[in-house]
Amino acid sequence: MATLEIVNVRKSFGAVEVLKGVDIKAEDGEFLVLVGPSGCGKSTLLNSIAGLQSNDSGEIRIDGEDVSNLHPKDRDIAMVFQTYALYPNLSVWENIAFPLESRKVAKKERRKEAERVAELLHLTDYLDRKPRQLSGGQRQRVAMGRALVRDPQVFLFDEPLSNLDAKLRVVMRTEIKKMHRTLGTTMVYVTHDQIEAMTLATKIVVLKGGEVQQVGSPDEVYNTPANMFVAGFMGSPS
Ligand code: ADP
Ligand code: MG
Repeated sequence: MATLEIVNVRKSFGAVEVLKGVDIKAEDGEFLVLVGPSGCGKSTLLNSIAGLQSNDSGEIRIDGEDVSNLHPKDRDIAMVFQTYALYPNLSVWENIAFPLESRKVAKKERRKEAERVAELLHLTDYLDRKPRQLSGGQRQRVAMGRALVRDPQVFLFDEPLSNLDAKLRVVMRTEIKKMHRTLGTTMVYVTHDQIEAMTLATKIVVLKGGEVQQVGSPDEVYNTPANMFVAGFMGSPS
């Protein structure tokens, strides 16, 4: 577990400033949900945290240490994307254990780790299948497993359920919540689904145009929105 601090992070693409000095703090084991309209910079922010792109300024701190200059692999952060690419020729367990190969973990140990993660994700019976033999939901679980197997200190999700049908989204939402309870890992979760945000979050961050509008508990954001934008966006009556 770890605290995650995003300190005055700025990022431009060409002349367009997408992140305009973002400050967010997630406490140890917090489930922070990031919401905001399309194009407001949610994915850009996650990419910055994961190190998939560099920031123009600001810091990303894990347990107080600035990791902005570390390679993504050295950050102890795992990310799950909306669209996930599995290796079609590898089995489920090999896909899950893939990140361990570069760490030079022995095959027997890799299999054991894949089994441990598969249990959390209800994939135990599918370990020796190929991705094409799985449903969409199961494939997304494999993608999550691949992130989990690294035992990250911080877990990032970028709209992981938005490609799934409504029924499956509800199931997966419950499972992600359970997973968080079991692991206690600090999580940052992007969604445009208000119900997902309200049910998963310990803290909600509302972003608009690369600026934080409000940070608060689901109850605070819903019942005492900081401004008209938050009120409208979260669908609160006031
Ligand atoms: P969100 O995830 O909230 O929908 P994004 O972070 O993906 O928003 O994008 C925020 C803005 O930054 C958008 O206007 C998008 O076009 C722009 N953007 C994102 N990535 C790049 C990039 N690699 N190059 C240029 N513009 C980008
Ligand atoms: Mg996005």
